[in-house]
Amino acid sequence: MKIGCHVSIAGGIDNSVVRAGELGCNTMQIFSKNASTWREKILKKDEVESFRGNLKNSNINPVFIHTSYLINLASPSDELYFKSINAFLEEMKRADLLLPDPYLIIHPGAHTGAGEEYGIQRIIRALNIILEKSADLNLKTMILLEDTAGSGTHLGYTFYQLKRMIEGAKDRKRIGICFDTCHAFAAGYDLSHLEGIEQTLEEIDKYVGLERLKVIHLNDSKFPLDSRKDRHMHIGKGYIGLEGFRVLVNHKYLKDLPFILETPKNDEKDDLININLVKSLVALGDGSLVRM
Ligand code: ZN
Ligand code: MN
Ligand code: MN
Repeated sequence: MKIGCHVSIAGGIDNSVVRAGELGCNTMQIFSKNASTWREKILKKDEVESFRGNLKNSNINPVFIHTSYLINLASPSDELYFKSINAFLEEMKRADLLLPDPYLIIHPGAHTGAGEEYGIQRIIRALNIILEKSADLNLKTMILLEDTAGSGTHLGYTFYQLKRMIEGAKDRKRIGICFDTCHAFAAGYDLSHLEGIEQTLEEIDKYVGLERLKVIHLNDSKFPLDSRKDRHMHIGKGYIGLEGFRVLVNHKYLKDLPFILETPKNDEKDDLININLVKSLVALGDGSLVRM
């Protein structure tokens, strides 16, 4: 299986590969800058070379980059909207520089009171500007829209909404999706048992197409089904529960895709514990319904 987690880039982006290797990851996710500031990180040539070298000498592939949380492609404020589009393009440039096979994950956006339809149209327009400019720059980065928990005015909490965004884009080849299990559960998709998981995957296939699904964010949820709260929990310690994760990681539509954990990091050992737990769920297989 392809399993990894979100790893820190503290002390240099190249360190992330070492950290992921120590945790037994064969895929990973990083930020390419501080995720809560607008400031752009200028990537130094040696840092990029060292990162690419470390990756080449590892079995970690693919690597996903998650965008800054400040970017809002649905913002009704023109200032924030165009600032977000520019920041996203800068993130695409960095992804292209860092990765041979670059993927950039983004939460579609929040309409902040302007209304859902307005927000979706705003996102479509932003995607088209981004796709056009990045094509002019010859960037090959693939954009992955992530499903959200639907907290506040965040859009993308149904796969139908993601479909609308993708459909509005002129160059759809460069858009895929990231499926976050905590977000989907908090948005009302019951991933705690086989039947709910099958229904969810059918919905993804119907609206988006499973071929567009490139990565799964494997997170348990601290709050119940349909709570609309984006609070991640350790695998098996939240409302999705171990049985849901056993079904998810062994499901024929998902098992060959990369799984990335974004579970809490309260203790240094947390990532290792969660990664090893997921590996043990794969070992259990999808046969009998084991009660745990
Ligand atoms: Zn995310
Ligand atoms: Mn996520
Ligand atoms: Mn989240």
